[in-house]
Amino acid sequence: MTARHSTPHRGTFPTPRKRFGQHFLRDERTLDAIVEALGEIGERTVVEIGPGRGALTEKLVACAREVVAIEIDRDLVQHLRAHYAEQDNVRIVEADVLTVSLGALAGGPYVLAANVPYYITTPILFHALQIPRPEAAVYLVQKEVAERMCAAPGSKVYGALSVNLQALAMVEYLRTVPAGAFYPPPKVESAVVRVTPHSHALLPPALESRLQTVVIQAFGLRRKQMVRVLRTITARSADEVTELLARCGVAPDARPEVLSPVEWIRVVEALEAAR
Ligand code: SAM
Repeated sequence: MTARHSTPHRGTFPTPRKRFGQHFLRDERTLDAIVEALGEIGERTVVEIGPGRGALTEKLVACAREVVAIEIDRDLVQHLRAHYAEQDNVRIVEADVLTVSLGALAGGPYVLAANVPYYITTPILFHALQIPRPEAAVYLVQKEVAERMCAAPGSKVYGALSVNLQALAMVEYLRTVPAGAFYPPPKVESAVVRVTPHSHALLPPALESRLQTVVIQAFGLRRKQMVRVLRTITARSADEVTELLARCGVAPDARPEVLSPVEWIRVVEALEAAR
């Protein structure tokens, strides 16, 4: 793919900082695809994580009612603030995204866009699923992570990330992005993924962190059968967990990697009810 460069800001930028995972997107088609994947944003607030040099921000500002962009790198924050000084529908927030509430910054319903720093992809994905959740989120992540996010039960890459995300949201793999679309190019391919939180929650919010813990522990034992897995996690007897699994419609000899997110939710609800 030939990358067409997007350079919305004049002036000199600092050298890309590895410690902040800086790989700046410069391919117009990918930038447009991310904006398009957000849907109709003319009347919406868009929260952007890690605007960097502002290539995606520029596109969002052109279409959205309001953009709130959260950037950790002080030098880039200065560039962005100078660039948007005259524009009243853009707010540049200097912060570590994991320390701020996205919903509070948006101040109402919002959608999320992020070419994420790869060193904190998973924490960002779950941070952005805290309530109030975005109506939709479009991410650029490592291709291998995108595949795990979207994986179906029984597939090779289905794991705790797949279950815990899909329990809360619909996850769609939209397109692969080659390393050459970035400056500097990362070592791996990337992909655009859309995460749309379920409008009707599949489990009560109070059980979300319990689900995440149980699923992470269970996939640490992914070669074991469910009876053994639940005995290890809960210290209950074989009879107790066999009976609990039967109530959930899960075979005692099933392995963690074949249970769907809905089956995992059933198991965790049953464990909670039996406490
Ligand atoms: N969105 C830009 C683009 O597409 O060209 C930059 C993407 S770059 C992969 C990730 C951006 O996230 C960088 O600008 C980096 O400084 C910023 N960043 C890294 N860690 C962050 C954090 N904890 N909170 C907020 N921004 C962060």
